Amino acid sequence: SLADKLQNVFKNLRGKGRLTEADVKTALKEVKMALLEADVSFKVVKQFISSVQERAVGQDVLTSLTPGQMVIKIVNEELVKLMGSETTEIALKPQNEITVIMMIGLQGAGKTTTTAKLAGKFKAKGRNPMLAACDIYRPAAIKQLQVNGEKVGVPVFSMGENNSPVNIAKAAVEHAKKEGCNLVFLDTAGRLQIDEAMMEELVQIKEAVHVDQTVLVVDAMTGQDAVNVAGSFNDKIGVDGVILTKLDGDTRGGAALSIRSVTGRPILYVGMGEKLSDLEQFYPDRMASRILGMGDILSLIEKAEFEVSEEKAKEMSQKLRKAEFDFNDFLDQMNQIKKMGGMGSILNMMPGMSQLKGNVDIDEKSMDRVEAIILSMTKEERANPSILNPSRKQRIARGAGVEVAEVNRIVKQFEQSKKLMKQLPGMMGGRRKGGLGG
Ligand code: GDP
Ligand code: MG
Repeated sequence: SLADKLQNVFKNLRGKGRLTEADVKTALKEVKMALLEADVSFKVVKQFISSVQERAVGQDVLTSLTPGQMVIKIVNEELVKLMGSETTEIALKPQNEITVIMMIGLQGAGKTTTTAKLAGKFKAKGRNPMLAACDIYRPAAIKQLQVNGEKVGVPVFSMGENNSPVNIAKAAVEHAKKEGCNLVFLDTAGRLQIDEAMMEELVQIKEAVHVDQTVLVVDAMTGQDAVNVAGSFNDKIGVDGVILTKLDGDTRGGAALSIRSVTGRPILYVGMGEKLSDLEQFYPDRMASRILGMGDILSLIEKAEFEVSEEKAKEMSQKLRKAEFDFNDFLDQMNQIKKMGGMGSILNMMPGMSQLKGNVDIDEKSMDRVEAIILSMTKEERANPSILNPSRKQRIARGAGVEVAEVNRIVKQFEQSKKLMKQLPGMMGGRRKGGLGG
């Protein structure tokens, strides 16, 4: 990984109080090579290197870090910036209006699959989606959308192959109105390459129906090509956001890095597999860690030291010992873990732990649900879970979009772990540093 390569360069950069120009130059040569290998465009690499250089030269090296780690830290922060820093959500209209999302991209990029994945996600969030089969060219495209729609429990509107995509799109929105659907996905046709006829068709659809969001689907495995494709679609059609598919098969990460800076449009989601549940929100910080391959525990310590003040950690461990912690503390801890890039990323940083990651993924999803439940509680309820009567629990369940049984389960688990803490006073009294309940 890039981090391993950097370790080598940095071996002879020890014990300096301040990063010199020469230090940074040597290190950045390596970063440059790695980014080019990752299929990041030359222009983006050049800009990136110069902004890191500008920041790094003359910086004080934090006491807990070696100069090498200091450069990695800066590279990491700049990578996150390059990808837009924040997570961006698709903008939807209020529930009582229809939002139309046009899905565009080359053939095989993953439009039809991603359309169903997205519809499933928004359905779970309480929307009422509908899919429209506007690809009349690809053999069995309509059938494919129907099969996927059925899998995620979302209706599919189609008019066969003998109608124009423009007519289908118009009729689909009308149909959605009648059926009370408030979110229409237009699954359009792609071509193998950028092609005038395809662009023209998309422009026509956009002229005929009110498209609220145009979402471009690109294949991460095609690297720099994906970025060029994104540039063309954005110039000709206008793109609001990008979904990067097949990231599960892309070890280089080059497309993820450059799309934002080349198109100015955010990456919204990433496709992580063929299954309809394999669609994840895009987190620039997680992606940066992945590209850097920060496989060392030092960065974990460093981050932990940064983000959790020593004092807070002490306070927490005292609370744990006395079993006084409540849901507010729990939320705090979850946020700390998130800041560090999630459980998966923490495991990644520990030698030999990365193979556990597959299992942790599932946990992270359930952590999101736990968080939603806790966020739906009032501050008072978090501080004092014993006031959670059935009607409060019902309100919380509704707020979090889960069943009451799940709220009950979380509250019960929480009470049980508190009891357990009380019974094990010795365990929590260690002198370990850091904020993870130590
Ligand atoms: P379309 O032509 O743009 O509509 O692309 P499809 O939705 O038909 O997808 C093309 C192929 O890519 C299918 O075999 C999908 O299963 C596969 N695919 C889509 N998204 C992903 C992903 O995130 N990961 C992997 N591994 N395969 C994907
Ligand atoms: Mg398709």
